[in-house]
Amino acid sequence: MLEAGPVARVRDFKKDAGYTLSRYFWHGGMRTTTGNLFMPTMQARNVGGGSVWNSAICLRIPEFTLERWEQEHGLTGFTKGGLDRHFEAVEAFMGVRPVEPDCQGPRNELFRQACEKMGWGVLPIERNEAGCLGSGECFTGCPNGAKLSVDRRGLPEVIERGGVVYASVQCDKLIMQGREVRGCEGHVVHPKTGKKSHKVRIEARCTLVAAGTIHTPDILQRSGIRGPGIGNNLRFHPGTMVMGLFDDPVFPWAGATQGYHCLDFLESDGIKLESLWATPSLMAFRFPGFGKNFQKLLGEYTYMASWDAWVSGEDSVGSVKATGLGRPSVRYQIHQNDVDRVAEAMAKLSELFFAVGAKGVLLGVHGLPDLATDARIIDTLRNTRFSVDQFPLASNHAFGATPMGADPSRHGVDPTGAVYGADHVYVCDTGLLPNTPSANPMMPAMGLSHYIAENVLGRYT
Ligand SMILES: Cc1cc2nc3c(=O)[nH]c(=O)nc-3n(C[C@H](O)[C@H](O)[C@H](O)COP(=O)(O)OP(=O)(O)OC[C@H]3O[C@@H](n4cnc5c(N)ncnc54)[C@H](O)[C@@H]3O)c2cc1C
Ligand code: SF4
Repeated sequence: MLEAGPVARVRDFKKDAGYTLSRYFWHGGMRTTTGNLFMPTMQARNVGGGSVWNSAICLRIPEFTLERWEQEHGLTGFTKGGLDRHFEAVEAFMGVRPVEPDCQGPRNELFRQACEKMGWGVLPIERNEAGCLGSGECFTGCPNGAKLSVDRRGLPEVIERGGVVYASVQCDKLIMQGREVRGCEGHVVHPKTGKKSHKVRIEARCTLVAAGTIHTPDILQRSGIRGPGIGNNLRFHPGTMVMGLFDDPVFPWAGATQGYHCLDFLESDGIKLESLWATPSLMAFRFPGFGKNFQKLLGEYTYMASWDAWVSGEDSVGSVKATGLGRPSVRYQIHQNDVDRVAEAMAKLSELFFAVGAKGVLLGVHGLPDLATDARIIDTLRNTRFSVDQFPLASNHAFGATPMGADPSRHGVDPTGAVYGADHVYVCDTGLLPNTPSANPMMPAMGLSHYIAENVLGRYT
């Protein structure tokens, strides 16, 4: 296995978002889309990829999504439990379990109470971890070694069975003989300076590309595999956040990074609601004002809770195009339907906050009050037609740029995971998902990869 980034061990972690982003994320975590909005979209660059820094949420692809994929993308056999054994195998292996009640902490508990007050379903989030202490530091790396990220669960087993992992080796392109892929070529990257050094060439009978939905099409395109399904169907779950200000301290940093979620509006409205924490150096960019006003709000952090929402993004599409080495251009055009979903998601989060006695909500929406203290803001959010540039959006849920499906004129890989237009090459990452899954991406990608791995084993062993 090749990984462009370095190994990130518990002893390397620092509670400092700037350090984490600059050392372990592509383009220092500052990658944004172009198109009709500049939307930050971070991608990790280290052994274990995003699983090292994410909140470890594990959610299966819901049945309503699989039914659509069957009809629209020819993915037959995935519905009615067809993928269950793959998800079950991954969940058992990755140690997926619900957040323990004593790890929830006040921010997550408030979210649960708010959902219950509104009569909305609320569930403890299932995550791949063992021994979480609820320190809320998932984003800068679990200091307790509790998160069962791929570097801790998966790669050790690969090495035990004789596999070799080359860290800090970047693949530049695949070795092509006609349409046959024979391995890959790349170079060593210095883990701290990022400087290029030795060339690397690895020959293989079968190659799995799992560089994430942005870099996989980049690698395929620069290898000359440029079919219509390679890079043209980029999807996101656009995400937003609302913070609520309370009279009593909330201590939002205490408790699991993401402890509870509400799935009631996933199918009907394309909206998922979650409780969330990340270091102030990441979240405080949402605060309004400068100087003393900004300082005053920062001083009130103890009294705030932060809850986020992401929306289906099913009407919006983008693309990935290879440009400079490892610097693909990422375009995204958000549709008004998804903008409207974001406004509704913010209305729902505001309803939750006012239901449990918040004295105001910080929305960060251009044209609305900095701190909205009147619950009528909920109606304003519902009755206004916003434009996309009024919202601060971000998305770390990216999919679909090498979509799986039965039609080579639209899809990048066939229903077994094999790349159209080339032989002996498969995709195993979030790029496979032909549209937004309405589930956090890690488990959908792992479940499908397990299914593809079976096909590959059957063919090559
Ligand atoms: C802060 C944050 C929180 C998140 N929380 C959750 C969550 O709780 N649950 C969830 O389901 N999802 C979450 N996500 C999203 C999830 O982590 C990603 O969708 C997922 O990791 C993507 O998996 P992947 O295998 O497609 O790509 P990645 O995890 O990005 O792995 C691809 C790897 O390939 C490497 N690579 C790329 N190009 C090359 C090359 N040319 N040569 C060699 N190596 C290369 C990259 O460095 C990277 O390590 C979160 C993401 C972030 C950033
Ligand atoms: S909440 Fe803290 S202890 Fe739990 S998995 Fe995340 S970083 Fe680790």
